Amino acid sequence: MKVTWEEPRWDDLGWERLAAGVGRCRLPVWDCTVGLVTGPGGALLIDAGSSLAEGARLRLEAQKLAGRRVDFVALTHPHFDHVFGAAAFAGAHVLAAEGTDGAGAGGAGGATGGEFGRAGREALCADAVRNGLDVRAAEEAADTLVVPHRRIRADLTVDIELGDGPKVLLRTVGPGHTRNDLVVVVPGADDGDDPTVVFCGDLVEESGEPQAGPDAVPSHWPTALDRVLSLGGENALYVPGHGAVVDAAFVRAQRDTLATRFGVSREPVD
Ligand SMILES: [Zn+2]
Repeated sequence: MKVTWEEPRWDDLGWERLAAGVGRCRLPVWDCTVGLVTGPGGALLIDAGSSLAEGARLRLEAQKLAGRRVDFVALTHPHFDHVFGAAAFAGAHVLAAEGTDGAGAGGAGGATGGEFGRAGREALCADAVRNGLDVRAAEEAADTLVVPHRRIRADLTVDIELGDGPKVLLRTVGPGHTRNDLVVVVPGADDGDDPTVVFCGDLVEESGEPQAGPDAVPSHWPTALDRVLSLGGENALYVPGHGAVVDAAFVRAQRDTLATRFGVSREPVD
């Protein structure tokens, strides 16, 4: 049976259309990107906003755009502005990268839950308050934070079925910005009508300098960006965690800048 599917009316809600069934919005305050990939087979949200209230708003918007509830939430990395809205999607299947340090090993059933466990939540809460989130909103989000249902070790393909098009690819490319960097790739159509779209999380930033906090692994960040570039190719749209959509040349330049900043070899690694 052929399932009918309509392109979301992105403009109506102030979202930016990137390709068929693929859009994103830039959230207020921290200019954090949230993406949505939707097709007859499902709807996948990329990152969840910076508070439970923001997550609840995003839930309504995503549902309106997709014409269905969000089935999957992919978290690009465990920073408050990307994950604190996740509890609003408790009914969805929440996916995140498994850390290179083993944080979160065992997923939801793990002994500590890694950065989503008690200590991790407190750290996220403190970081959110330091960055200007209201204390109560930060505590609420930390207390209700959803532990990802699945931790991805390397590759996962999610079946969203954009028309006859390809599926959505989730790939761990870190460490870099954090030990848990996940990118979401929506391959372009073969006929060339739609570009490949790569949601990069904070491995790429356009509206400011890439942020290397205490959980960053700067020595590996350039290599992570090489992987991002090889996943997307030369003609992809690269969606940064913060800022305007960029091209491969921008990502390559940011890779070189980071390599210089952190004293890493500039030679790309396959
Ligand atoms: Zn971040």
